[in-house]
Amino acid sequence: MTMAYAKWLHSSALSHATVPTTSPRRDTIPATFRPTTSSDRPLFFSSNYRYRPPAIAVQAQAKRGLLQKTEEEAASPDDVQFEGPLNIVLYPDPILRAKNKRVVTFDENLKKLVDEMFDVMYKTDGIGLSAPQVGVNVQLMVFNPAGERGVGEEIVLVNPRVIKSSKKQVPFEEGCLSFPGINADVVRPEAVKVDAQDITGAKFSVSLSRLPSRVFQHEYDHLEGILFFDRMTAEVVESIRAELLALEQKYEDRTGLTRPESVETRKRWKAAAGFGRS
Ligand SMILES: [Zn+2]
Repeated sequence: MTMAYAKWLHSSALSHATVPTTSPRRDTIPATFRPTTSSDRPLFFSSNYRYRPPAIAVQAQAKRGLLQKTEEEAASPDDVQFEGPLNIVLYPDPILRAKNKRVVTFDENLKKLVDEMFDVMYKTDGIGLSAPQVGVNVQLMVFNPAGERGVGEEIVLVNPRVIKSSKKQVPFEEGCLSFPGINADVVRPEAVKVDAQDITGAKFSVSLSRLPSRVFQHEYDHLEGILFFDRMTAEVVESIRAELLALEQKYEDRTGLTRPESVETRKRWKAAAGFGRS
């Protein structure tokens, strides 16, 4: 995801975050960025966040997720090989729709990949980046909602899995490094609980709300081959249709290949709509 949200982080609404922040700025916050209720609870990795008793549908969804994940193929060392400097893969490159394998080797190469992902994320004014977006089809994401090296917290999630998501859904304007210049509203669950592994392979659980939850869900979708416009309403997609078509044309001009997908054929929408809804 892109930089616009870092401004939100520095806004007054987040000044009580548990992570260190430098000189909170009070940038203008678009209406959709404003929390509907004021809260002084910590926002990052909050232990205060309480889920409502999960609805049956949510539990079923979690179970389905579990089954799905355990069936997933493990990445070989070759799958995690990369050559720097990393470049951002742009829509509609099929790499963004390819299957992402589970990481099973937690070695120096993985650490190097993570370092380089943070590098390219900061350079491109991003606040979150998934491995497929740099051409490595494995289940790995990095993010730092502050969007600045040395500020906020650098978060690395390997093989993440959503085990709970809040019933409450909220709209939020998102951007994506694979869709330069495009920003539009996406509705997603407000909070999620996640199981994942860290860079050493150690397992952990974390509850995310607000901006970290939003960035995580966007990047998690990348690991599932889902792109942010898959989750936009028809009206919102309509508002960015020309920009999507322009990216598709650029892809053809750059590669000499036919665009592998087009906004003109909205086939994936229904499949993607199921996530996070009960
Ligand atoms: Zn993205």
